[in-house]
Amino acid sequence: MTQKFDVVVIGAGPGGYVAAIKAAQLGLKTACIEKYQDNQGKIALGGTCLNVGCIPSKALLDSSWKYHEAKEGFAIHGIEAKGVTIDVPAMVARKNTIIKNLTGGVAGLFKANGVTLLEGHGKLLAGKQVEVTALDGTTQIVEAANVILASGSKPVDIPPAPVDQDVIVDSTGALEFQSVPKKLGVIGAGVIGLELGSVWSRLGAEVTVIEALEKFLPAADEQIAKEAMKTLTKQGLKIRLGARVTGSEVKKKQVTVTFTDADGEQQMTFDKLIVAVGRRPVTTELLAADSGVTLDERGFIYVDDQCATSVPGVYAIGDVVRGAMLAHKASEEGVMVAERIAGHKAQMNYDLIPSVIYTHPEIAWVGKTEQQLKGEGVEVNVGTFPFAASGRAMAANDTGGLVKVIADAKSDRVLGVHVIGPSAAELVQQGAIGMEFGTSAEDLGMMVFSHPTLSEALHEAALAVNGGAIHIANRKKR
Ligand code: FAD
Ligand code: AMP
Repeated sequence: MTQKFDVVVIGAGPGGYVAAIKAAQLGLKTACIEKYQDNQGKIALGGTCLNVGCIPSKALLDSSWKYHEAKEGFAIHGIEAKGVTIDVPAMVARKNTIIKNLTGGVAGLFKANGVTLLEGHGKLLAGKQVEVTALDGTTQIVEAANVILASGSKPVDIPPAPVDQDVIVDSTGALEFQSVPKKLGVIGAGVIGLELGSVWSRLGAEVTVIEALEKFLPAADEQIAKEAMKTLTKQGLKIRLGARVTGSEVKKKQVTVTFTDADGEQQMTFDKLIVAVGRRPVTTELLAADSGVTLDERGFIYVDDQCATSVPGVYAIGDVVRGAMLAHKASEEGVMVAERIAGHKAQMNYDLIPSVIYTHPEIAWVGKTEQQLKGEGVEVNVGTFPFAASGRAMAANDTGGLVKVIADAKSDRVLGVHVIGPSAAELVQQGAIGMEFGTSAEDLGMMVFSHPTLSEALHEAALAVNGGAIHIANRKKR
């Protein structure tokens, strides 16, 4: 007999699994379909984020940072650490244990919340029927009052550098190196390229990042991007801007990459090459020809502001739809859609989705950049505070970077918080909380911040917006 559900979710990444749990919590009979197999051939939940994205990259970033600190950062504290070595397979194995714990945790949450897991490939048919093809090829049809498509994304391939997962790898392959490459090339200076480049650079690889655009981190505030370029270059990352990769040749376990920049055609040879040029939506075999769901011109599933597709009762969320390809955006869309299906009037604030790059120092922001606001003709006041003036940062020997708060010159409402520095992601989240409640720079300035904390840098930057910072000389108002 055909199984019937109130909600069927296709894909158990941070979009899909969160949507499924929320729907079940709201009393809806819910199933979630997932096909991803781990290296033991078992279905693993959690999607890109838990298996080959956010979490594994952060595990390797944290391990490599500890190694780097032990080698370079202990002496200043009077700690002698001689003969520090890195066991790369052990580091990668620790990462895999974390993945196993987290993906197993999601399976546990499904059980606890009464979400039915359907293992296999899901395909939306006409009339909100969903075909599930199990790993052994058998199929079943389930019926749903509502369907949520959450099939995520995968790395973009470029013809000049075809991924073989041996010498030329994508982000997934770059999480699995079993030794440190002597020379590592990275195509793309986006979030993923910079994070993975940092991991292997800290462990001793000579890293060159080749980026087609002339501008570094174009989405970030220019002041922050400039500081990031300076800091990452000082750390040893060679970042070649305005350099477009046009070809590559693999020979004897090395790859020679051809690229063109202002000086003409160039070549560089690497032991490994990471292709990190972006991600594209996964819609292969997801929609039957008569499903009625349409794609936009870039191949994303077309949805409105509430994630409704062109078919009533069918929604799509996360990386497979427009907007930032971020786990927290996917999850919040999942919550919004589940709540709307349950009859609530949920909305999502797309203007306040924080962005984070987990380099060291971290780079994070929420809201608009100074350039965006000026481009829109908004008059702003800007306050900055350098971590070099923070007692807490000094105590931690981590004084690089700054906090920048941008407020509307007329209303004083905070329109952007941008940070490069220690715990930038956490600091920006404080800005996001304030901005969600319409905070002014003065409001932030009047709040009591614990001393000594890195958060005080946010407090001081907010005070600096109106010339009232205490621990730096304020910019004179013209
Ligand atoms: P996904 O996580 O891609 O999940 C989709 C799931 O659907 C997959 O498990 C897939 O197997 C399954 N699926 C697809 N089609 C079908 C089908 N037909 N039937 C059954 N199952 C199907 N984001 C952050 O916010 N912070 C970070 O620090 C961060 N770091 C990242 C680092 C790396 C290296 C990468 C690659 C990504 C990172 N991201 C990060 C991005 C983040 O992983 C994605 O934005 C997020 O996973 C998107 O969630 P999703 O649920 O939309 O899709
Ligand atoms: P993101 O989309 O943030 O992951 O970043 C991917 C980056 O890769 C972008 O900044 C692109 O400009 C860059 N990129 C794409 N194709 C090439 C190429 N052929 N050579 C160099 N950089 C590229």
